[in-house]
Amino acid sequence: RARQSGQGRYQFYEADMSARSLDRFELETDLRAAMQRQEFELFYQPQIDLQTGEVSGAEALIRWNHPTRGRVPPDQFIPIAEETGLIHPIGQWVLEEACRQACLWQEEGHELKVSVNLSALQLNNGDIVDVVRQVLQQTGLSSRWLELELTESYLFENFSRSARVLKRLRLLGVSLALDDFGTGYSSLSYLRRLTLHRLKIDRSFVKGLPDDPGDLAIVNTIIAMAKSLSLEVVAEGVETAQQHQSLLALGCHTSQGYYYAAPESAQAFRHRLATFRRAEQY
Ligand code: C2E
Ligand code: MG
Ligand code: MG
Ligand code: MG
Repeated sequence: RARQSGQGRYQFYEADMSARSLDRFELETDLRAAMQRQEFELFYQPQIDLQTGEVSGAEALIRWNHPTRGRVPPDQFIPIAEETGLIHPIGQWVLEEACRQACLWQEEGHELKVSVNLSALQLNNGDIVDVVRQVLQQTGLSSRWLELELTESYLFENFSRSARVLKRLRLLGVSLALDDFGTGYSSLSYLRRLTLHRLKIDRSFVKGLPDDPGDLAIVNTIIAMAKSLSLEVVAEGVETAQQHQSLLALGCHTSQGYYYAAPESAQAFRHRLATFRRAEQY
């Protein structure tokens, strides 16, 4: 409380709080309507295979095109969607839309995976395996072209339960990636017991490459550890040629970031695929 700071300051604080909760209330109301109004859109960011220089996949990232606020970033509305339970219909829409898009890529001759972020709540819901199976059936996408990105916070809240869900997802044939890796508390022994395919190194560690010895050591260690566990590594948040070179030298498999491309609309991404020439890249 701002009690000791005097009366004026206290009132200011209260006014600020109510403005914020009003804002939050409005966002929540708008979020409930956003689905019907078709205000959500998926953007796609390419993932580059560092060995071949080719686009090997794309991460689907949700965007909310709000009628008056403009584009609301996911960090601002995913938490509200989680608190209100709206994450379930929204998450299902994301899965459907991403799979539909990946089918189009396949039809156009581009064999690449689509990666979809799953919220912890979606995984805890119990029927996530059925949802994924149904979406694959409805869209006709082969499960080998779908990757699900999970975060550590979920996995280690209820480890044995998550391990079972992951096993069932893996039986469907989808790939599993651990997102923002290094920011949580995964230990080697836990990682070994999960049926994961890839680790995504959090961008906070990529940031200091190649000059920061601490970041370099961390990224090097993650890559070595992943190799020993037969996991692939994706670097996130690659913004410069120096970071790209450094990751290449460290033996990282896959790379993603503004250096290659920012997330873009489905249409722009398809155009990128159609015009992408390996020779002129990286
Ligand atoms: P994330 O899954 O770790 O996604 C990566 C974020 O980093 C994205 O932010 C992306 O735009 C951004 N990014 C990509 N390259 C660079 C770079 O070179 N530099 C920097 N500074 N940033 C880069 P975005 O799209 O705002 O998404 C933020 C977070 O929201 C995601 O983090 C993910 O946790 C969540 N999210 C996004 N879409 C969905 C979704 O469909 N469902 C769920 N449950 N969560 C989602
Ligand atoms: Mg992600
Ligand atoms: Mg991430
Ligand atoms: Mg994240």
